[in-house]
Amino acid sequence: MTRPLIAGNWKMYKTPSEAEEFALELKKVTTYNDRDVLVCPPFPALACVRKILDGTNIYIGAQNVYPAKEGAYTGEVSPVMLKDAGVHYVICGHSERRQIFGETDDFISKKVKIVVEYGMIPILCIGETLQQNEAGETFKVVEQQLREGLKDISGVEITNVVIAYEPVWAIGTGKNATPQQAQIVHAFIRKTLKEMFGDVAADIRILYGGSVKPENIDELMAEIDINGVLVGGASLKIDSFSRIIGFNKVRSLM
Ligand code: PEP
Repeated sequence: MTRPLIAGNWKMYKTPSEAEEFALELKKVTTYNDRDVLVCPPFPALACVRKILDGTNIYIGAQNVYPAKEGAYTGEVSPVMLKDAGVHYVICGHSERRQIFGETDDFISKKVKIVVEYGMIPILCIGETLQQNEAGETFKVVEQQLREGLKDISGVEITNVVIAYEPVWAIGTGKNATPQQAQIVHAFIRKTLKEMFGDVAADIRILYGGSVKPENIDELMAEIDINGVLVGGASLKIDSFSRIIGFNKVRSLM
């Protein structure tokens, strides 16, 4: 049984003072010990959020990393800096990084590798666009992103990697994949991981992301291969995020 992971990606929202206020609220409502909770604030808010959440069971994550220890890379942030800042998880290859900043599978694979090397957990994001979905290319796209993104990861290292399936057409659109649609892709991802790494695939956490909200969290989490969620918009408000964190696995009666 994998431990569920509920992760919030704040994207480019919340100033350090807003993040601080949110972290204080989050600390009050996160009282579970059968699930992991993670927040990924923007870089300037990492330090203050860490200070507030230190000693709790809420982890801190980064939304990005540059795949080098240090160097002349103006504007970038290294894994050493993140580690020292108390970061446990790093989102790698989010679709916004792929689409807006042109990140390739090869570049993303370097991020995944270096995050593991520095003792943190990468969350490798994969997922098809609407056009690819409509062309029936979902499995092909997801398999390629998975195999490429994990190409330098060993059978031992994979136990410290999280995968997030985020169909691009569902991110920030309010249009989520149904739990059944997501389950089919998650099962395919697990099958591919098994081909790549063997039986350890059963223990790899595969998160769903894309318009997760209080209204759909219980049904999503009831699916066998959905081991958690990566939440954007609904992680910015304490009411919606705390409801998502407090999920109860319930299957739809439909
Ligand atoms: C995300 O940012 O990874 C995401 C899934 O966003 P949203 O929940 O807003 O669709």
